Amino acid sequence: MLKIEHLGIAVKSLDAAVPLYVQLLNTPCYKQETVATEGVNTAFFQTGQEKIELLEATNEDSPIAKFIAKKGQGIHHIAFDVTDIYAEIERLKGEGFELINLTPKSGADNKIIAFLHPKSTDGILVELCQEKS
Ligand code: ZN
Repeated sequence: MLKIEHLGIAVKSLDAAVPLYVQLLNTPCYKQETVATEGVNTAFFQTGQEKIELLEATNEDSPIAKFIAKKGQGIHHIAFDVTDIYAEIERLKGEGFELINLTPKSGADNKIIAFLHPKSTDGILVELCQEKS
């Protein structure tokens, strides 16, 4: 894995969280995007080389709604940049990690993504992401 690409943070409301993070980071939100298949609205901030991705549920069945109901607002996942997501999925599978997505899917911010199950990573939801070519 190359580097941390972004941290995903679950929030109840982007309307409330975006101005807060603008103040906190002293940088504008450069992109807001809905990923309908995931039931999320996202907002991105560039912080040095890495990004912060705020995630808001669009419906009650969204994984973000379930996460907030269980754990409250906070860090939801860590995303790592990879050069070949297919090879990385195979490598991690071979190492015994449980993948939520064996086939990469389309994510926000022009990425293809795959998640590892937190039960195989000591509780951290890990996202692999690769820039769409
Ligand atoms: Zn993410």
